Amino acid sequence: WSNRNFPWAKKLEDNNKKVFGNHSFRPNQREIINATMSGYDVFVLMPTGGGKSLTYQLPALICPGVTLVISPLVSLIQDQIMHLLQANIPATYLSAAKEWSEQQEIFRELNSDYCKFKLLYVTPEKVAKSDVLLRHLERLHARELLARIVIDEAHCVSQWGHDFRPDYQGLGILKQKFPTTPVLALTATATASVKEDVVRALGLSNCIVFRQSFNRPNLSYFIVPKTKKCLEDIDKFIKENHFDECGIIYCLSRMDCEKVAEKLQEYGHKAAFYHGSMDAGQRAFIQKQWSKDEINIICATVAFGMGINKPDVRFVIHHSLPKSIEGYHQECGRAGRDGQRSSCVLYYSYADYIRIKHMISAGVMEQTPFTSGYNRNSVASSGRVLETNTDNLLRMVSYCENDVDCRRLLQLVHFGEKFDSTNCKKTCDNCIRITEFIEKDVTEIAKQLVELVKSMGQQFSSAHILEVFRGSLSQYVKKQRHETLRLHGAGKNLSKSEASRVLHHLVTEDMLVEEVKKSDFYGSVSSVLKVNEPRVSDLFSGIRTVTLRFPSSS
Ligand code: ADP
Ligand code: ZN
Repeated sequence: WSNRNFPWAKKLEDNNKKVFGNHSFRPNQREIINATMSGYDVFVLMPTGGGKSLTYQLPALICPGVTLVISPLVSLIQDQIMHLLQANIPATYLSAAKEWSEQQEIFRELNSDYCKFKLLYVTPEKVAKSDVLLRHLERLHARELLARIVIDEAHCVSQWGHDFRPDYQGLGILKQKFPTTPVLALTATATASVKEDVVRALGLSNCIVFRQSFNRPNLSYFIVPKTKKCLEDIDKFIKENHFDECGIIYCLSRMDCEKVAEKLQEYGHKAAFYHGSMDAGQRAFIQKQWSKDEINIICATVAFGMGINKPDVRFVIHHSLPKSIEGYHQECGRAGRDGQRSSCVLYYSYADYIRIKHMISAGVMEQTPFTSGYNRNSVASSGRVLETNTDNLLRMVSYCENDVDCRRLLQLVHFGEKFDSTNCKKTCDNCIRITEFIEKDVTEIAKQLVELVKSMGQQFSSAHILEVFRGSLSQYVKKQRHETLRLHGAGKNLSKSEASRVLHHLVTEDMLVEEVKKSDFYGSVSSVLKVNEPRVSDLFSGIRTVTLRFPSSS
């Protein structure tokens, strides 16, 4: 797709320079544009800051007709439109909050023979709830003026992901109504299972996938035990490493945000808080102060994030445990967008895990802000979704408790990427601390785990398999009668982290596969571990051994 002989090649070059002011294309941008302009459905995984917007704004500019962009947040949309208008690209948006007369005006323009708009942004609830919008899209389509459909933050389609939004699920209707219009789905965060889920829900066919490495070489990762002195530790960390620089501190609750901000102010930092109970005006005020550097530390819930474009964020601190590795990666990703060295520090305590687990089951987690009457409680508590959320959280816990493996490697494995940890170059706490390793042969343990998965009928989650392997007698284990299995407790001499490292290794080596299971009426998903027979046969015939590195002292 990198070919420069497409008929539109020169137009791309010229407009990229003249209109967008870029000297060249970033990795994958040209390829994505060529694929979508060739009429294919395209799925893009690109980390935050990679330059996703250009991949649809540039085609929108040079193709006839209107490009429909579905984006979850009005603030994000407004920001995009401001930039487009500055570049003289006619763009507008529809949201439930817009005056009806204003919406009428936009519809009239869409109907006109010479519709001036190149881009029409809408929030997903508009697609779900507005028949008027669909009718106008049909008319555009009939006149061959619906150029392309762009789904931004496409991971929101998947309940399997970390940021599910119900209104996104209805977007499959677009492909049904407009099967020949190319769809471009964009996200900065998706594991293989989320990607599959999104592609299926949107009804994409023969979709071309572009994925870019999620490694962010300029970020350093640290997990620090969280103690009562956490706020003093944070103060010290900032003063020693990032004095007077910009940073975000992610907190669990609104009250935490306020408490942390207040304490940091006492310590002499220019800090403020930001969360979902503030009204739009207050939030806009803080964002403005932050972009003008009048405030340099924001203590926020995850409500602060999407669409935050500050390039010089030098640190992201997690005052408590994030809900998922995807969320963590994305939140950390707001640091160092200018490519300069930046730090990501997470203060971890098991007590936070318990607290979050309770919040998830009670349905009181703060989500990223939403534009319609999205009821966050309704999502959190139903069976499978609850299980997915708990599973995501457990993976985050095991990431934090892993005190051996390269953090970068652990994150990238989660996104289905291979990574050689020598390339970390001592930019994570584990790589810095552990200088000498020994390789241990864990083939026997690996075989036992595979057998256990089989004896349980290949229909349980990794968390449950580990429980049984280490001899748990929990209610659920007994309910399934798994305490009667021969290998129940076979791994009782291993620590939880040792056992889970071996199990995860089997997954990354493709001997066990995580299978997404669609399992209830609502189409929610969870994952179970299955055995990949061709890959494990070498293990049992002795051709293949499994070794893991351990710190040489252990
Ligand atoms: P994403 O949506 O992937 O997070 P954006 O589209 O917001 O990223 O782009 C991030 C920044 O990179 C923006 O400031 C944008 O102007 C800039 N950018 C995008 N493409 C290029 C390019 N080819 N050359 C230079 N800057 C670019
Ligand atoms: Zn490392």
